[in-house]
Amino acid sequence: MNPAPALAAFEAAEILAHGSEGVIACDKAQRVHYLNPVAERALGRPREALLNRPLLEIFPGLKSHLASLPGMQPGDQALELEQQDAVSGRSFHHSLHPTSDGGLVMLFRDVTEPRGMADALSRSEEKYRDLFNAIDEGFCVIEVLVDENGVGIDYRFLEVNPSFERQTGLIDAVGKCMREMVPTHEEHWFSIYAHVAATGESTRFENRAQGLNRWYDVYAFRVGKPEDRHVAILFNDISQRKAAEEERQEADKRKDEFLAILAHELRNPLAPLRNGLEILKLAGSTGDGELLNRACTMMERQVSHMVSLVDDLLDANRISRGLITISRKRVDLADIVRHSVESAEHAIRQQEHELTVQLPSREVYVDADAVRLTQALTNLLVNAAKYTEPGGRIALAVKRDDATVSIAITDNGAGIPPHMLNRIFDLFAQVEVAPHQPSRGLGIGLTIVKQLVEMHGGTVQAHSEGVGKGSRFTVTLPLSPERRAPGEGTMDQAPRARGHRRVLVADDNRDAAESLATMFELLGHQVAIAYDGEQAVAEAERLQPEVLLLDLGMPRLDGLGAARRIREFPWAMTAVLIATTGWGQEQDRLASRTAGFDHHLVKPVAMSDLEKIIAEMPPADAA
Ligand code: ADP
Repeated sequence: MNPAPALAAFEAAEILAHGSEGVIACDKAQRVHYLNPVAERALGRPREALLNRPLLEIFPGLKSHLASLPGMQPGDQALELEQQDAVSGRSFHHSLHPTSDGGLVMLFRDVTEPRGMADALSRSEEKYRDLFNAIDEGFCVIEVLVDENGVGIDYRFLEVNPSFERQTGLIDAVGKCMREMVPTHEEHWFSIYAHVAATGESTRFENRAQGLNRWYDVYAFRVGKPEDRHVAILFNDISQRKAAEEERQEADKRKDEFLAILAHELRNPLAPLRNGLEILKLAGSTGDGELLNRACTMMERQVSHMVSLVDDLLDANRISRGLITISRKRVDLADIVRHSVESAEHAIRQQEHELTVQLPSREVYVDADAVRLTQALTNLLVNAAKYTEPGGRIALAVKRDDATVSIAITDNGAGIPPHMLNRIFDLFAQVEVAPHQPSRGLGIGLTIVKQLVEMHGGTVQAHSEGVGKGSRFTVTLPLSPERRAPGEGTMDQAPRARGHRRVLVADDNRDAAESLATMFELLGHQVAIAYDGEQAVAEAERLQPEVLLLDLGMPRLDGLGAARRIREFPWAMTAVLIATTGWGQEQDRLASRTAGFDHHLVKPVAMSDLEKIIAEMPPADAA
């Protein structure tokens, strides 16, 4: 049998090129005229069993394709197809070429995957699936959808792991497209994945997904054949970390702003103070009493301002470190309100505001640290005065409920923009003012108010209709459970000092020591001064003072050591020892108490505190 007529129409080079393939040539009736050894081996039957047999008998699955062949011309594109052989169960790739004599040449090759390899593949796939199902990270495989220009326009989820839902909040995503699920998903996601699909370059990035309201850390890489545009994505929801980062940045920014304001605020009083000193020098020589008085009043005001700034700073620091404790007792809220109004009076009067106070007709008792609660209410009143144009109206109203009492401080001033209402209680937070306006504080007052009120088991809330519409701050406190006996727990005014005392002032800061001594002398007391601890002990022995003010940080012998030695003198049993220091924390107070001090005053010491201590002493024997 000569296969030549059929083969002649076929390029010899083609046969050589497919040398690893089976070749079968058929006549017009599609019977086998020729087959090469590869075909014999592939079909697993002897040559004799195949020759002259109809091709359809050998490959029954090709029926419809063979039927279409007579219409084809030699030189037409070959018919390429893949078929599984029903008998052997193997898969073949066929390429059918019509020949000019009406016959055909078929090239074919076995494309059945070797069994061992298929098993290995499925085992590794299983392992990979187990791994991705077990991990905390979200994992998905997507098919990137592109437009005619290759631009990524959407993607479809092909598979997702169990963590996917937790990490995205998207339920039953498989088979769905991203745009269908999250229409607002940002363009950059589509373009990044299209790039990975097109180039095969893997990528790692962090991005916000606004529509999901989350931030992600993402690793994306291409899988499978490039033309499939499949991209695998490993990702983590990092929203919490991002929020913490943002919060940290915001806090840093606030701190920087705060430091700038602090420097500014602390420098502000210095210029008038320096001027005041000049005036004192000049006026001292002219003897102009009126001028001296005015300069002193101004300087006093500036010093008080600085002292209150520093006090606020210290308070904020102590509160944030949990170092402030309050000692509560049953007090009439009316007393606290009265004292707060007195403390804020200067600020209110200076701005010519009108203040109304509304108290319930009956007493209202709360368990409070009177000093600290007064501080909180004073702060709110001073703020109302500060943030209201001169001539404004401020109202304080106390309202009692069954179990609580609320104190509302309302002004008709600057108001607070809605986005700041909660934030103004944060440390260093301030409502932004126009650049040319001077800042009016450090942004710590409300933080202290909030902390102090909360330490009393209460709350403080800010309310404002907006900028220019005034503000209302409401403090709510629990009522004290029992009724009290009349007269109990009210706060006393500092009584005036009576009688003259022997006083020793010891401080290595000469100005501090001498100015304090001058004040005592002006009040009629007999005063001695020492500039270190040893000298203090010696002076004490000589003078036998009834009141001793000892600075704690002194050379040679510190205040604690001096106090211990002085306490050993028999006459000193009844003496009042007062520590004066820059350190007012609990451990400092404890140390001074242990050394024998009766009082611990933080500098700068207010004369009224000293007067009060002296007034509370038993009557002076010699006076
Ligand atoms: P500051 O030392 O800046 O006054 P606060 O903590 O007391 O600090 O207040 C924080 C911010 O809250 C202020 O800078 C101010 O913008 C705003 N604020 C406080 N009280 C009022 C008020 N009564 N009216 C308008 N704004 C206020």
